Amino acid sequence: MAKEVTLHDIPDITSDMLDKLGELNINSVYQLAVQNPSELAWGLSNNFVYIHSAARLIANARKILTENEILSKEFSTADDLLVRRNKISRYKTGSSNFDSFLNGGIETQSITEIAGEFGSGKTQICHTLCAAAVALMEDELDTSISDLTRKVPGSIIYIDTESTFQANRVHQIAEQKNLDPEDILKRIYHCNVYSSEQLEALVDNLPKFIEQYNSKLVIIDSIISLHRAEFSGQGTLTERQQRLGKMLNKLRRYADIYNIAVVITNQVVSYADSSHPGFDYMKAAGGNIVGHGSTYRIFLKRAGKNRTAIMQDSPSHQYQRVKFTISENGIEDASSYKTEEAGGLGW
Ligand code: ADP
Ligand code: MG
Repeated sequence: MAKEVTLHDIPDITSDMLDKLGELNINSVYQLAVQNPSELAWGLSNNFVYIHSAARLIANARKILTENEILSKEFSTADDLLVRRNKISRYKTGSSNFDSFLNGGIETQSITEIAGEFGSGKTQICHTLCAAAVALMEDELDTSISDLTRKVPGSIIYIDTESTFQANRVHQIAEQKNLDPEDILKRIYHCNVYSSEQLEALVDNLPKFIEQYNSKLVIIDSIISLHRAEFSGQGTLTERQQRLGKMLNKLRRYADIYNIAVVITNQVVSYADSSHPGFDYMKAAGGNIVGHGSTYRIFLKRAGKNRTAIMQDSPSHQYQRVKFTISENGIEDASSYKTEEAGGLGW
């Protein structure tokens, strides 16, 4: 079991620095470890000249987490990596085919992206995950991270940029699954966000909330809608992509350091394929920045009542697909389909 570490344990830290970090709302070793050096230098001194001191502070915070076996070393032997990988939790979705498609569930230490057109089931997957995942978190209070910082039950942070979260839907899904809806709803921290700036600021401040609420899963539905609406002209595309990239970078660090799962939803763009004139195809929005920023990319397609999820991009899953439906139980196995290899199915 890891011992409790605080900012006072950072080598050479002065009380002046501690005060400044406090002013920046950085109150734990975790919160320091996930900072970006240039942003921290600016925050501490309004001057990028101090980037080396800021980088050293962050490096020392990471060193402490490494010594406490919360972070992997700069170079780790493969057996150490395996130990860390074994700390990964998987949160089930409640559909057994979908869970086996995910190799057991949505993983911690990763960003799972769910992309699909309007009505394909992204938000419904998030709702089902809320009910199914929180129920599993009860058993996970004694992971090394919770020992360090918190005594409260595991929870979910749900960041809603499209105002489509419905507590009554999570209640219904939980009830259908014979789970305790009242307990589950108490452990979902929901936040509506209305502008890209607000979303970015919230992502910056997430470490504080992850610690305060003992969150094991952060859902952002959707990561791109606000940026897409606000940065619509060609001339603003580069800025939009940079800002999305920064957010994803931070989310990745949080997933790693806090051993949490991050689920983001993404929209689609249509494109014409010159070899099939007249047909429009769909691909995930956000270009390479979002594609490379996520660990797993799941693409949803809708055909009538049935929906198909495709594992489009993954370091550890085969390229496969699964069919599912949506009912009062949330997402469910489509009765006549199982996970299939995607090859040769027109994808
Ligand atoms: P997206 O977020 O990808 O735009 P949603 O996850 O909101 O799409 O999916 C919306 C669809 O989910 C609806 O069109 C409907 O078919 C289905 N749905 C929502 N609630 C229920 C329910 N209680 N029972 C059956 N289907 C539902
Ligand atoms: Mg939605």
